[in-house]
Amino acid sequence: MNARRIAAGVRDGSRSATAVVRETLDKINAAHDRLGAFLAVFEDHALERAADIDARQARSEPLGPLAGVPIAVKDNICYAHGTTTCASRMLERYHSPFTATALQRLEDAGAIVVGKTNLDEFGMGSSCEHSAFGPTRNPWDETRVPGGSSGGSAAAVAAGLVPIAMGSDTGGSIRQPAAFCGVVGLKPTYGRVSRYGLVAYASSLDQIGPIAGTIEDCALALSVMQGVDPHDATSADRPGDHLCAHAGSETTSADQQSGGSLAGLVLGVPTLSRGPHNDADAQAVFDSTVGTLERAGAEVREIRLPHADHAVAAYYVIATAEAGSNLARYDGVRYGFRAELPRDATLEAMYTRTRTEGFGREVQRRIMLGTHVLTSGYHDAYYLTALKARRRIAEDFAAAFSAGCDAVCTPTTPGPAFALGAKLSNPLSMYAEDVYTVGASLAGLPAVSVPAGVVESAGARLPIGLQLIGRAWGEARLIDAAQRVVNVLHPEGFELPPRAL
Ligand code: GLN
Repeated sequence: MNARRIAAGVRDGSRSATAVVRETLDKINAAHDRLGAFLAVFEDHALERAADIDARQARSEPLGPLAGVPIAVKDNICYAHGTTTCASRMLERYHSPFTATALQRLEDAGAIVVGKTNLDEFGMGSSCEHSAFGPTRNPWDETRVPGGSSGGSAAAVAAGLVPIAMGSDTGGSIRQPAAFCGVVGLKPTYGRVSRYGLVAYASSLDQIGPIAGTIEDCALALSVMQGVDPHDATSADRPGDHLCAHAGSETTSADQQSGGSLAGLVLGVPTLSRGPHNDADAQAVFDSTVGTLERAGAEVREIRLPHADHAVAAYYVIATAEAGSNLARYDGVRYGFRAELPRDATLEAMYTRTRTEGFGREVQRRIMLGTHVLTSGYHDAYYLTALKARRRIAEDFAAAFSAGCDAVCTPTTPGPAFALGAKLSNPLSMYAEDVYTVGASLAGLPAVSVPAGVVESAGARLPIGLQLIGRAWGEARLIDAAQRVVNVLHPEGFELPPRAL
């Protein structure tokens, strides 16, 4: 399912939005028990929206670039229909009175929200197992995780249920599940997309972005969502970039000039990409991918990102510090859940019980970590040190780009999707999953994960992702580079999971 083609068909009347949505709902319902990708499906609402688009088409009214395209939305993005739960008991019955700006722009462009997808509670996790409503399963192998935290969105796209799904990425939550599910995930430059209506996890890192079956569809969604928003002071006031011109399976102008090769593309491969943390098969895929790109004409440079080894530690200090304060608002008074208490219970008992019962264990762990690193006496040792590391990490990337790299190229993850439960008892091993993705997050840079190849593991075929990190605001070039890379790696298109619909 390709969004651009769906929208073209709906606009020219050769396909009705209603038929597209009906087909999508059937697929979602058929896959539900197997995957658990959705927390809510909006059948009537989506069909009403589709009927409205079809009526406008019949009246020859102009329709947007996403006319009739069904999209799924991670359930930490506010939508004025249904609940926005963040996969937490705390917000189980929370109805947002408004729609997130990014989502509103997609709807204004004709997209139809068919449902909300599962995630790690409040975005905290790398496996989608920290959801209060049960895990999502990987469509390639249902005994494995889809990655996280946007695991429901990635699984929905990989299984062919929707062409595009919205995710959010704080330290890898778009890219890592995209890699585990064999699809494309794009985290924009911090500030390109409004965070208004994205439930805050770590505000200096959070960005909304697309997960899709093609680079072209990611570019299309991002081109609609991008741009300044008066409701988010961190959204940048810059003119939007033309992003779609750079993507598409048709050869790009750069391909034509270079005869379809990667001539002129400079890829920086950090030494970290060949670390001991990597699974041997995934490492082999990465190395052979880099070799293929080099033979296709790319210049591959070994680079050093001297502070990259500190990225995971710095990230988990900064992200938890911000999470601790962002989640202070869930106090049983202003939002959502409140514990049942005897009438004479104290206010403090009410807070304690509400937060103990409303938050899952991982969220509680993050709040405690975040509180600890901000406590006077520890603040300088942890939080300020992490901020310094963050600056150094950003400088390392800047140096690579000013030395001429078009993109920094790493594996997206150290290995393929792991088994459900494999990392649940060891939080540090779960955090270590993020070694390749948190750097771009700390530096605020755009980064995309595209399928690199597939490994065989315990009888399953599992996708491996390749991450390309671009310079700040360089999405147009990054998308162009990613498309050229994909044209070389997958001239016939990406491999799909065995039971994709
Ligand atoms: N796995 C990382 C974390 O748990 C990233 C999550 C995200 O990007 N939302 O914080």
